[in-house]
Amino acid sequence: MLKKQIYWHTTVQMPDASNLTPLPEKVDVAIIGGGYTGLSAARTLAKNGVKAAVLEAETIGWGASSRNGGMVLTGLKVGMKIVLKKYGREIARRLFQCSLDSIDTVERIVKEELIDCGFARHGHLLATNKPKHYDALKDEVEFMQKEFDHDVRLIPRAEQHEEIGSAIYHGALLDELSGGLNPAQYVAGLAGAAERAGATLHARARVNKLGRSGKRFVLETERGLLSAESVFVATSGYTGNVTRKLQKKVIPIGSFIIATEKLSNDLVKELIPKNRMIFDYKHYLNYFRLWDNRMIFGGRAAFFPETSNTIQRSAEILQREMTQVYPQLKNARIEYVWGGTLDFAFDMMTHVGELDGIYYSLGYAGHGVAMATYLGRTVAEAMLKGSIKEHPFASFPFPDAPLGLYNGFPWFLPFAGAWHRILDWVD
Ligand SMILES: Cc1cc2nc3c(=O)[nH]c(=O)nc-3n(C[C@H](O)[C@H](O)[C@H](O)COP(=O)(O)OP(=O)(O)OC[C@H]3O[C@@H](n4cnc5c(N)ncnc54)[C@H](O)[C@@H]3O)c2cc1C
Repeated sequence: MLKKQIYWHTTVQMPDASNLTPLPEKVDVAIIGGGYTGLSAARTLAKNGVKAAVLEAETIGWGASSRNGGMVLTGLKVGMKIVLKKYGREIARRLFQCSLDSIDTVERIVKEELIDCGFARHGHLLATNKPKHYDALKDEVEFMQKEFDHDVRLIPRAEQHEEIGSAIYHGALLDELSGGLNPAQYVAGLAGAAERAGATLHARARVNKLGRSGKRFVLETERGLLSAESVFVATSGYTGNVTRKLQKKVIPIGSFIIATEKLSNDLVKELIPKNRMIFDYKHYLNYFRLWDNRMIFGGRAAFFPETSNTIQRSAEILQREMTQVYPQLKNARIEYVWGGTLDFAFDMMTHVGELDGIYYSLGYAGHGVAMATYLGRTVAEAMLKGSIKEHPFASFPFPDAPLGLYNGFPWFLPFAGAWHRILDWVD
């Protein structure tokens, strides 16, 4: 039977809300949001002797951090050629280096904190849907080597079967530095690490209002008031009107995943022989990987964030997409389907900074497993120093909606969805 349930949650004991930690009256830093960003920041702050409290509206790890594809990726959502052209060589190099450091950060935390989440550097493949996509990647190897001293490799269509048991692609680009993990096991482990460092984690503590009293912030939560010297907003695609100015800079977009029944060892070896993380070249992209002999297949099947309707429809769409990639899975039972919400900035870049004295890290655009961990850590380090200005991700502006035509409700998503489908057709 198809369960509308997050498969990853069946693989680990997620932090629950049965034993609510009492809310302190006063902290040094209040962190809003209990995902990778918030927990990683809390761990760093607490390790440096700062009294940090994570305030989470639902349960710790409830958001995208326990629902994602678990791909730990190099690079940014925006291609490095565009980043270089837009921001110049020096900033582009610093940003790309951050992406490599972000994977090292995950690797180090997993090791230091003994987090059992299957982290391994399996590498990722960008699979091309049309011959012209592959042609467009031909100078990528030289470009990445010359500009970023980074090795990627082209896999021509004739050799593609060594990487992927599908005939629909026209070759791929391989990056062996990327990795994969089980996202729910990772976020649960990160929560444990933050607590051991001395941070307090508070589930069912939605922040309803953020104000000031003198130099301090006052946070009105559903469990009472809390006073903080500083605030860090780590709410990603779930950013609401408590931080209205930030909400207007972030577009929440749904992403959905199905998990098949357990497949045979032989089939698994045929589908993704080297256990790579794979995503395709489409605007309406698909991403997929294996875990515990299941095919985990995701995509932007509906643009609106998760509801019972979008989840049900997504199961059908994703199964269709999956069997187009892998006809071998025509009879594979789909056991789980779920959705989560991504955060996109209007320039598709990730942004960190300080607005009206409030720190933030937002706009991961589906690249947040490693980056949220890294930016949680490095924004916390900047807070300790008292300035975020030198951070590479603070070196370009965080744009508002064009013409100011956005109040936090993404009315344009159906149009954007249709536009992406048209682009996939012609592009
Ligand atoms: C389906 C899906 C697949 C993805 N796949 C990948 C992938 O393979 N690789 C990759 O790198 N990235 C992926 N991502 C993106 C990645 O999961 C996110 O970028 C990352 O988890 C963001 O972490 P976060 O801590 O910033 O936010 P989240 O984990 O989303 O946490 C934000 C939290 O803030 C809380 N919150 C919001 N408002 C309030 C409030 N007022 N008071 C208190 N709490 C509040 C929410 O309840 C939520 O739990 C995927 C995302 C989704 C949804």
